[in-house]
Amino acid sequence: MIEFKHVSKVYDNGTHALDDVSIHIDDGEFVFVVGASGAGKSTFLKLMMREEVPSSGSIHINNYNLGELKKRKIPYFRRSMGIVFQDFRLIPTMTVYDNVAFAMRVIGTKEAQIRKRVTYVLNLVGLSAKARNYPQELSGGEQQRVALARALSNNAKLIIADEPTGNVDPQMSLEIVELLTRLNEGGTTVIMVTHEHELVRQFDRRVIILENGRVVHDGSSKDSDEALQSSQGHLDRAHIDSFDPTFAITNDNSASLDKSINKFNNSLQKKTDDDSAVDFTVYVDKSKNKNEKQ
Ligand code: ADP
Repeated sequence: MIEFKHVSKVYDNGTHALDDVSIHIDDGEFVFVVGASGAGKSTFLKLMMREEVPSSGSIHINNYNLGELKKRKIPYFRRSMGIVFQDFRLIPTMTVYDNVAFAMRVIGTKEAQIRKRVTYVLNLVGLSAKARNYPQELSGGEQQRVALARALSNNAKLIIADEPTGNVDPQMSLEIVELLTRLNEGGTTVIMVTHEHELVRQFDRRVIILENGRVVHDGSSKDSDEALQSSQGHLDRAHIDSFDPTFAITNDNSASLDKSINKFNNSLQKKTDDDSAVDFTVYVDKSKNKNEKQ
């Protein structure tokens, strides 16, 4: 069970990342968390993992009251969840088998038990044949499946996936979500952050949409179309930071994104020595297609 009660997060520099968020997620649910860059998705996950603490409000996860969790208890708490990152975070010098076994070795699990578990989870993600390979010998989708197997190695009942489909092709994205769906059908709670609307539409699941740190929609994906549409404008803008190297904005908010767009337009005008306004919409659309979720 995950319970956020009136949670707000203001970072030291004064940024309001989350604003009065109250969410209840039951065991066994599958939840998509959607929102533009800067909407507060990472902050939401970081609070859940106890990497950050709320400025106000309370968070309960399973039997833990995160506000009262002692520092030395944090590693134990984190072991109750499996985390999958967008950039896989595999160890390049270790085989697939060892990458998955690693977390269990850290906590002193016996080798025989490790072997059993690694064999089981690699089979689950369809990668038994690649156990002796190194990450760089695998495709992006395969690497993400290894990361997923690793997240499952400790038998976590809660999987948190932070844009797990961000670095894989559309077909593999589908397979990753299907895999998460199967795990969920086996009773694992899944929280998946994504900004891919198509995926959300294809899987009829609960969708929480964040916008400027607030929950603007919490319901089934069937009813979320309008809300997804309305955040689409923001999402298109979010693509800007992923493709334009001159504006390597990450986790920026809308206001500073606006500033960056203006800066970009100004610099373009200077470059072309042309007074006519630059049509930014065309630029976004073109680049979005070019970059459509590599
Ligand atoms: P998302 O994951 O949806 O892109 P984030 O949770 O990363 O959104 O960011 C929400 C807001 O908080 C943004 O305005 C971002 O710039 C800001 N922010 C995130 N992390 C920090 C931090 N460590 N310090 C200050 N501001 C931050």
